[in-house]
Parts: sequence; C-alpha cells; structure tokens
Amino acid sequence: MIDVTLESVSKRFARTGDTAAVDDVDINIAAGEFFTLLGPSGCGKTTTLRMVAGFYFPTSGRIRFGDEDVTRKPPNKRDTGMVFQNYALFPHMSVAQNVAYGLKIRKVGRADAQRRIAEALDQVHLGGYGTRRIDELSGGQQQRVALARALVIRPRTLLLDEPLSNLDAKLREETRVEIRRIQREAGITSIYVTHDQSEAMAMSDRIAVMESGRVQQIGSPQEIYHRPANTFVARFIGRSNVLSLPVVAATATTVDVRLPGGGSQITVAGPQGHGLTEGSTALVSVRPEHIGLCAATEEGALTARVTELEFTGMATNLIVEVEGESEGVMVAAVEVPAGLGVGDQIGLRLNPARMWVVRP
Ligand code: ADP
Ligand code: MG
Repeated sequence: MIDVTLESVSKRFARTGDTAAVDDVDINIAAGEFFTLLGPSGCGKTTTLRMVAGFYFPTSGRIRFGDEDVTRKPPNKRDTGMVFQNYALFPHMSVAQNVAYGLKIRKVGRADAQRRIAEALDQVHLGGYGTRRIDELSGGQQQRVALARALVIRPRTLLLDEPLSNLDAKLREETRVEIRRIQREAGITSIYVTHDQSEAMAMSDRIAVMESGRVQQIGSPQEIYHRPANTFVARFIGRSNVLSLPVVAATATTVDVRLPGGGSQITVAGPQGHGLTEGSTALVSVRPEHIGLCAATEEGALTARVTELEFTGMATNLIVEVEGESEGVMVAAVEVPAGLGVGDQIGLRLNPARMWVVRP
C-alpha cells in the first residue's frame, strides 16, 4: 500500500487559456484510503484523476506515490488501475480476454495470466464468467469486469471516474457497496470521482469537495456534513440552509447571533479563527433535518409560510418563506401534521447545537 500526494497541482489547457481546470490542489491520500473527489460537472475532478493516472501532466506542481515522484512519468510506469464511466471494454471479446488486456501489455506468461484472471474474476464475484461475451452481460456485471481488469495488474492505486453513472438507481446502490468491499479486501489506495454527494458520503473515508478547479474542503463525510467550510460546501452537501444573521457577541470558536424577525439570540459554534466580531454578519448553515415544526406563536420560533411540500419517504421537505429573513427561502425536513398545506403559516424551531458558522 502506498500514499498519494498532490502538491500545489495546477492544470491549464491551451484552449481554455488563463483559467485553470485544476487550480493549486493539495491533497494527501493515506495508504489504503478510499478518497473521493466530489463536485459539480466541470469542476476539475476528471482532470485531477487523469493527472494521477499520467494521462495528463500538471502545468505545475508535483505528484508522488509514496516517496516516488511520478509527476512526469507515463501511465504505464505508474501501476494505476483505472475504471471509467463507460467501462471501455471490448464488447465482442470475452470477459477473460478483456481482463487479460493489461497482462498482455505487461507480457505476463500464459499460465500466470490464467491464474491471475481467475483470481480477479473471483474478487469481483464473477468466477465462471470468463468465457461470456461482454455484450451478454448486464451493466452491473460489465462494471465488475472493468474493475477486475483494473485489479488484475495488481496496481498501486485504483482510480475510478464516475463508474456508476450508467447504472440505474438500485443497481448503483448495490454496486457501490460491492466496490467498497473489493477495495477493502484488496487494501488498495483508491481515488473515486463522483458528482453525487450521497454516493461520496456513503463510500468514502475522506472527501475533497471541489469547485472551479479548487478544493473547497477536505474531510470525513461527517466533518463535511456537520462542519462545512463555506456556503458552497454547505449547499452542495445535503442542501443546507445558509442564514445571514447579525452577530451580537463572539468568542474564538462561537458567535451569538440574533434570529430573524426580532427573534431570540442563540450561540452557534464555528471554525477557529472565524474572524467575526460584534456588528458583523455571520453566515450560519442549518440542515433541513435539524429544523422542527412548532406553533408560529411559540417563544423564539421563526415564523414562515409554506410554499411547497415535497414528500421524500423519510420525511417531507417543507419549502418555506421565512418572515423577516433577507434570503427568505428555507427547507425543513419534517413530519407534516395532517392538513398542513401551501400558504399556511408555521413556526420553525432551530437547533443551535447542530448549526455551524460557514465562510462566504
Ligand atoms: P469534471 O470531471 O469535474 O466534470 P473536468 O476535469 O472534465 O471536470 O473539466 C474541468 C475543466 O477543464 C472544464 O472546464 C473542461 O471544459 C476543461 N477541460 C477538461 N479537459 C480538457 C481538455 N482536454 N482540453 C481543454 N479543456 C479541458
Ligand atoms: Mg468528469
């Protein structure tokens, strides 16, 4: 097992000129870790992964596998296993022939290759499928062949670029569990790319949230969820509300803020060095599930009007217009009492212990 380090890595494409597709990225991935690059389309995830694989060279910065500087090494000198969204399999060839591909290039002998192909197919629970043609397999099975093909070369790192995007929702959930099992059993340092935050949260040891080529935050799913670094992360992960609230007092790690509509004063935790002082405005993230319903007349409640109800199964997302709050719209995930409908006035109770100060 090896660790992977990206040190001030940037990538500028000739065509896009001055704007960097990847902008000064620093990431340390521990040996054996399952690390995810998460962000919206175009934020630089694939470009970052391709630099780790060696398909692109950085414009500046360094990439290391353990102590070895691989920044300018071609892909075949890096021992990375790569899995793509479209699988990139040869459809007319057999499963075994597809898995054999990397071994052929490496001139692994026939007997050794046979044994390793069988091993890799066992690893992905496709033992006995070696003679099947790719176009006879389901999407999920094809994805596992792609994984076997990546693993058969015994790579030092496993790189996966949106490998589940072509699968339907149920299969996607099953396959993500499967990928994590295989990764854990192989004990292989892995970098996973996705734009799907729930996939990233469910699978990863740690996540780097990216936007416009820059890393916005690196942390465990829990850290990113409960202590988002800025408004982008708060809104991208789990659809947080971000309130702008006047600061009435502050310590190094907390602020006292006043709720809208002449509401009560609450204390909210934030990052060390938040820099907020009395009289400034704090941005505070509130998760929809940390908001409770109450009577509009209740002491300290926010008053709001319901503009939409979205039933999700686990709860109902109430989209509300808050009275006396500049940004107005909030989402609360609640159990809706019978008869509540669009246009009704309600009270909202926030849980200060679950709120968090974020940067702009
Ligand atoms: P993501 O995988 O997060 O969707 P990409 O890494 O593919 O994002 O792209 C990041 C940015 O770099 C985008 O603006 C994209 O248009 C640009 N880009 C990606 N590959 C190339 C390329 N080969 N040539 C020019 N621009 C590219
Ligand atoms: Mg991409």
